Amino acid sequence: MTNYEEARRIILEKVAPAGVERVLLLEAVGRVLAEDFAAPKDMPRWDNSAMDGFAVRSADCSPGVILKVTDYIPAGVSSDDMVAPGCAARIMTGAPIPPGADAVVPIEETEAGAETVKLLHQVRKNDHIRFKGEDVACGEPVVAKGTVIGPPQVSLLASFSAMLVPVYRKVRVAILSTGDELVEVGTEPKDSQIVNSNTLAVAAAVKQCGADPVILGIARDNKESHLALLSEGLKADVLVTSAGVSAGDRDLVREVLAELGVVEQFWKPGIKPGGPTAFALKGKVPVFSLPGNPVSTMITFEEFARPAILRMMGHEKPFRRTVRGYLKEGAKKKAGKLNFLRVHVTIEDGRHIASTSGDQNTGILKTMLRCNALALLPADRTEFKAGEEVDLHILDQTLEMEA
Ligand code: AMP
Ligand code: MG
Repeated sequence: MTNYEEARRIILEKVAPAGVERVLLLEAVGRVLAEDFAAPKDMPRWDNSAMDGFAVRSADCSPGVILKVTDYIPAGVSSDDMVAPGCAARIMTGAPIPPGADAVVPIEETEAGAETVKLLHQVRKNDHIRFKGEDVACGEPVVAKGTVIGPPQVSLLASFSAMLVPVYRKVRVAILSTGDELVEVGTEPKDSQIVNSNTLAVAAAVKQCGADPVILGIARDNKESHLALLSEGLKADVLVTSAGVSAGDRDLVREVLAELGVVEQFWKPGIKPGGPTAFALKGKVPVFSLPGNPVSTMITFEEFARPAILRMMGHEKPFRRTVRGYLKEGAKKKAGKLNFLRVHVTIEDGRHIASTSGDQNTGILKTMLRCNALALLPADRTEFKAGEEVDLHILDQTLEMEA
């Protein structure tokens, strides 16, 4: 039997970035840069003033000196006129330093006359000048392939006027729920019917990966319906199904996938919740067959499908941050499977303390609401004492910042 660690390794071995596209800079936010970006020019492109003030020859300057103002250089203008000895050019922030000048005196450190300026303080060569290439030199590798694009990367790329940037493309994730008992959201369920919440839960998780959900609807518990919708799903980049993956006689997902030429890589990866999860491949298309219980669906998506989708979109670190933390309460389990405990982690004295986020029965959906991490209870163990150290998969980014 494939265990949890092997299962995750198999998945990442079998998926690769789906492709590269050039998108408008703003569309690239949250996406992964697919090529190194080297500066095409120096930045700044010329020596320029860091302050509103006066461009001067530092050798002329001492406190109390009065210089003649012979030029005015606002931002967006450049002047070729030499600043002559005893003279100064009024200059605005960002404007190119005129020839002859080697320092800028901020306006606050002067007293202006009609056509003169009096200096109040000492001036040193290079004061308040931003030099050509001091931020980024031409050719410097500034944003590496694999970087997730955020505001600083957008700012830098935009400053070089890069309009389109190469990023790994988004993947389309087809989502199929299965079961005769299901009715769609918005329909009042009768008798023993159940509302199909999994489709939207998986779609929400797909969106959080930055990928595009493609909703296929509900396959009924017969082969025709499964064949039609599963083959539709295989046209996407990734297929995620829910329910119908156990060993019951109405559980048709694995059987029909096999008929469609999908090759199973593992089934039952030794975990709880999520025991009957299956992973298969049709060519490059990974197929995640997740159990139908909504808690199991979410946890198995999180642990198996999410890393694959992120890797397919170029993320170099597709796994959640794992930290060692401490159980607030003791726990018991059966030997044989790795258990995911839904926990609420707080940071106390720099330590991650994990307390249960509610009833751990897989039927209790509510326990997911306060859950900001999954605690991993190893397969071979049965009893855990309060205070024991365990691995935590941190689901909540705000917690990463507290740490
Ligand atoms: P199964 O994996 O088919 O045995 O389903 C396990 C449990 O999950 C059953 O109680 C189902 O009714 C429930 N379930 C299956 N599919 C969904 C779904 N799409 N949305 C919500 N619950 C579901
Ligand atoms: Mg079923």
